Amino acid sequence: MLLPAVAMDRLGTESAFEVLARAQTLQAQGRDVINLGIGQPDFPTPGHIVEAAVKALRDGHHGYTPANGIPPLREAVARDMAHHRGVTVDPDDVVVVPGGKVTMAFAIQMFGEPGAEILYPDPGFPIYRSMIAFTGAMPVPVRLYEANGFSFDADEVLGQITPRTRLLIVNSPANPTGGVVPKDELDKLVRGLAEHPHVAVLSDEIYARMVYDNVPHASLTTYPELQDRLILLDGWSKTYAMTGWRIGWGVWPKAMAPLATRLAINVNSCVNAATQWAAIAALEGPQDEVDAMVHAFDDRRLRILELLNALPGVRCARPGGAFYAFPNIEGTGLTARQAQDRWLADASVAVIAGTSFGDLGEGFVRFSYAASLERIEEAVARIALWLEAQP
Ligand code: PLP
Repeated sequence: MLLPAVAMDRLGTESAFEVLARAQTLQAQGRDVINLGIGQPDFPTPGHIVEAAVKALRDGHHGYTPANGIPPLREAVARDMAHHRGVTVDPDDVVVVPGGKVTMAFAIQMFGEPGAEILYPDPGFPIYRSMIAFTGAMPVPVRLYEANGFSFDADEVLGQITPRTRLLIVNSPANPTGGVVPKDELDKLVRGLAEHPHVAVLSDEIYARMVYDNVPHASLTTYPELQDRLILLDGWSKTYAMTGWRIGWGVWPKAMAPLATRLAINVNSCVNAATQWAAIAALEGPQDEVDAMVHAFDDRRLRILELLNALPGVRCARPGGAFYAFPNIEGTGLTARQAQDRWLADASVAVIAGTSFGDLGEGFVRFSYAASLERIEEAVARIALWLEAQP
């Protein structure tokens, strides 16, 4: 009999992939499924980025690269950090990895071990909790509040810190809620963290470019007092519609960048070379397609918000970022899981149960509005009909 490590029993998953598989099975049977379950832009990668990858392959970039990424790419990331966040970053502290998820896994593995505690947002991206548990550390949920647009309360977070806390994970704009942590809440958090110098911070800012209502993105990288303990997670997947290319970047505290690179050497060697050249084209090339995409997301956000709030038993907080709406469905009498399963089976609309993002997601479902306005309208109309037909 094979004996996988017991840690494997603690490893969770991301149900979005399971719902996607079920939706695709129904589609293969001829059903017209509207998929608002998956968290990826419905736009293609801009053409000049694709061309840069093709050129890189033609130019012979076929071999291993430095494990932390080719120097011109890490320099381009540093320029991007200066341009979009106004911070100075040493390209040596940038570690390029195969997707934002890998920075997350590296940071959690670097701090997680039995006896350690790691704070993570709930409802939040499910991989945080999964990876924390995998390392043997204790996952400690930080509660996000619907009434605060799914922000946390900084005093409450600070009150959860113990001598065993090693890492605090912050995600703004957030998956699955679209929530944005206001700047003054971050200020308060950072002030309080001065009392807890043993706590590192992982700031997952993968949705940083997708913010709305003229509220600029507030980045934890702009606080110099966190510089020696902040890990920034960002990447190309969402901003440039590059989820399948598998590339992301981390900016690490100077002392930790070599450790992240060592993990990369052990796990993935490097990101594929052509993708790295494409990533330079993404950062340095025209940004008009990114702007147009964010604009389209904003229009859809306002429309879906209006439509969801008109459904009986449903109310939806205004998402400030990303491309998700996270309505409260308690008034429908459905659990999150029932809504997910019934709406897919009966109405052919794929959404994700809030409980896939943590226990505090009960009573909510996630709509990804990465679909055309027409499909979004059709999806909510189907749910409205389904709700009306209930006894
Ligand atoms: N962080 C959050 C909050 C996400 O929602 C995702 C993807 O869904 C990631 C990180 C991972 O992104 P990537 O596809 O670059 O690994």
